[in-house]
Amino acid sequence: MKRLFFTLFAALTLFALNGCRHEASTPDLAVVPNPLSMQGGGRGVLLPESGDPAILTHVSHVLGPEEYILDTRRGKVLLTAGSKAGLFYGRQTYAQILQQVRAKGENLIPGFKIQDKPAFAYRGAHLDCSRHMFTIEEIKTYIDILALHKLNVFHWHLTDDQGWRAEIKSYPRLTEVGSMRNETLIGHQRTIGTKEAQYDGTPHGGFYTQDQMREIVAYAAERFITVIPEIEMPGHASAALASYPELGCRGANYPYQVQTCWGIFPEVLCAGNPNTIVFLKKVLDEICDIFPSEYIHIGGDEAPRIEWEQCPKCQALMRQKGFTREAELQSYLITTIEKYLAEKGRKIIGWDEILEGGVSQSATVMSWRGAKGGIAAAKLGNDVIMTPNSHFYLDYYQTSDPTGNGEPLGIGGCLPLSKCYAFDPYDQLSEIEQAQIKGIQANMWTEYVASFDHIQHMILPRLAALAEVAWSNTNRTSYEEFVQRLSTALLPRYTARGYHYAPYAFEGIE
Ligand SMILES: [Zn+2]
Repeated sequence: MKRLFFTLFAALTLFALNGCRHEASTPDLAVVPNPLSMQGGGRGVLLPESGDPAILTHVSHVLGPEEYILDTRRGKVLLTAGSKAGLFYGRQTYAQILQQVRAKGENLIPGFKIQDKPAFAYRGAHLDCSRHMFTIEEIKTYIDILALHKLNVFHWHLTDDQGWRAEIKSYPRLTEVGSMRNETLIGHQRTIGTKEAQYDGTPHGGFYTQDQMREIVAYAAERFITVIPEIEMPGHASAALASYPELGCRGANYPYQVQTCWGIFPEVLCAGNPNTIVFLKKVLDEICDIFPSEYIHIGGDEAPRIEWEQCPKCQALMRQKGFTREAELQSYLITTIEKYLAEKGRKIIGWDEILEGGVSQSATVMSWRGAKGGIAAAKLGNDVIMTPNSHFYLDYYQTSDPTGNGEPLGIGGCLPLSKCYAFDPYDQLSEIEQAQIKGIQANMWTEYVASFDHIQHMILPRLAALAEVAWSNTNRTSYEEFVQRLSTALLPRYTARGYHYAPYAFEGIE
């Protein structure tokens, strides 16, 4: 904070002294993400006695679709953007600046011109609502937080082993049975199978009606955020199998259950049963009716093949298709679904396991096991969203000493704010391959995160670092300077809105 820019006076003095320079000094203002350009100068805008100065807006197609220019040099707040989305981002910047001027007790917004546009078209955050259920109001707040950071994709993880959350009218048991687990493991999953493992004895669950999901889609759209739903296949399917056991390799008589602990389970959808494809298509029909997004996330991760190896139906399909490896069954299932969605004008995104057994070039790969899956996919010519667990898994601990710092129980790892900030989406890629990187995303898994307060604590302020990479990738400064701007531009906004952020996120910063 001590080193925070020049004061307004100093900036204006410098401007006067260097009046012959083409660019004025940067005014004493902090903006996160760091704008592409910020120049000081001009009259600025006086604050009225009450309320905020009006913003004069204009859409100009000369600018990129999300680009904006915010200008206070001529005594008015002028906002020009390439689209309504760009105007929305300009308003977010303006709100950050207005808050700073008021915090200093000043009555003049200094003169400046800010021009900005995002480095990546896809700027996402994910939320797992299967491991723990969150209310519609909480999800709206999550979307508000995304909007505050100028992110534009909400990836909604709706199905998993521990609960199916999306109402599907053609398969009502998915929510009648699959939305509720009997109880939940207490503590870390490393106790599973030991005498220490304890369960809470309390049922947990719930689901979103189709009307509620439509409400979320509309709420997000007002904030220029696209909701991408995720329906997991063929693994992470215990909740679906508990509802419709005939879709599993073990058959209708096997006592599948909605899982009560965490991990990877051998029970997967039977790839050799034609009814599995019928099921997935009907589910996706309803999902596509609710969610207008171009992309549908089909999961594809962590699907063990041990049951396929022993299943007569799966083995028969392999013989019929001439497959020699079970990985080809996964590829068959994913590409079948991809073709079906393509007929509806949709595209698939899957976790990087969809590369195994081969994937069509039109699939978008979400790289989560580090960046290596994304690098491999980009080299194959596939579109890539970078969500490496090493940098953007926000269920990881935030300091090197979680116990000493009083962090709540987490899945593990160590992902401080500085590491999020340091991610290089283009690492190891040629210029041509870099073009395949369409964006970045933070993932918020909730095995150990049961309350919405805790969610906020995990995503804030790390989401600000993600936003800075997403908008200002090649325009990043130093981590220390970022933290100073964050402290001035965003932390007060979190506080004003009642959001909780991790107090120990700034470990090592003076
Ligand atoms: Zn099978």
